[in-house]
Amino acid sequence: MSEQHWIDLRSDTVTQPCEAMRAAMAAADVGDDVYGDDPTVNRLQEHAAELFGYEAGMFAPSGTQTNLIALMTHCGRGDEYLVGQEAHTYKYEGGGAAVLGSIQPQPIANQADGSIALADIEAYIKPDDMHFARTRLLALENTIGGRVLSQEYVAAATTLAHVRGLATHLDGARICNAAVKQNIGLREAVLGFDTVSVCLSKGLGAPVGSVLLGPKAFIEQGKRWRKMLGGGMRQAGVIAAAALYALEHNVQRLADDHDNAAALARGLAEIDALDVGTPQTNIFWLDVPAAACEPLRKALLDAGIRATVGPRMRLVTHLDISRADVDRTVGAFKSFFKNWQA
Ligand SMILES: *Cc1c(COP(=O)(O)O)cnc(C)c1O
Repeated sequence: MSEQHWIDLRSDTVTQPCEAMRAAMAAADVGDDVYGDDPTVNRLQEHAAELFGYEAGMFAPSGTQTNLIALMTHCGRGDEYLVGQEAHTYKYEGGGAAVLGSIQPQPIANQADGSIALADIEAYIKPDDMHFARTRLLALENTIGGRVLSQEYVAAATTLAHVRGLATHLDGARICNAAVKQNIGLREAVLGFDTVSVCLSKGLGAPVGSVLLGPKAFIEQGKRWRKMLGGGMRQAGVIAAAALYALEHNVQRLADDHDNAAALARGLAEIDALDVGTPQTNIFWLDVPAAACEPLRKALLDAGIRATVGPRMRLVTHLDISRADVDRTVGAFKSFFKNWQA
């Protein structure tokens, strides 16, 4: 590997800020955001709230933190939230809701399409009885493992939650992918959710940061948790400028990532040894023979390709993956499997 750049298919978090994004960061007006003084952070929060149709927004260092702030603001000690077994907030955030929020998660099996069955939601809402935690919130995730929740499902699930007196939160780390895939607006994609967390550092390509959106009073309350969790930032306009740039320039282009994922999956599906899923967005999964994993990982590295290789492996396309990179990756897989014997 010499001049060729690395092809990194591990995640859409690995993108590098482009020149124009860096220029926006360098030129950002800044202030102390803990005092609410950073004009660029304020502009980002207002812009994001407007884009998604909420009253207010809060910028924070990570999606883990915006999700936790949301859970801690919706639920108090001894309250419970309903969440998918596969959901990021439940499975991949270190148990923060329970550890730091004293909130009991009620995990529920995800269906094959990523949804939580309406009958399960209904069945897991606890009666008002001193034996039970108080069920307060339904949290969904869209996209989830690259799958898009249908608008019909989202409407039905959030309506059910509201009718039963629960609040609704969306882990919308990749909600822009879901919106672009369905060819709907961002406001439409989040309909039914009282609050939403949006990652700016995934497919949108900002180096860092997420926004939490919701009612003004909710966001104000959430700022206390953000401070407690160590998320109060000072001249954060430098990174908010990148986030603004991402929201202004990188939403519609997510369609390219979806096309590239589809092309990559089609190419890999021509290899007999692999069982390749059909991507809906920029993330898809494939099955690799266990014995092939270690030599494949090495062969890919030798070809300048970083991937999380395993028997069930995930590939992710993003801003820094071109169609030529897709072709090079398919080529590297094919030349490995041409010589590989089980
Ligand atoms: C990445 C991600 C988050 C939060 O991630 P951070 O790395 O903490 O910014 C939350 N939910 C989902 C679904 C994610 O993919």
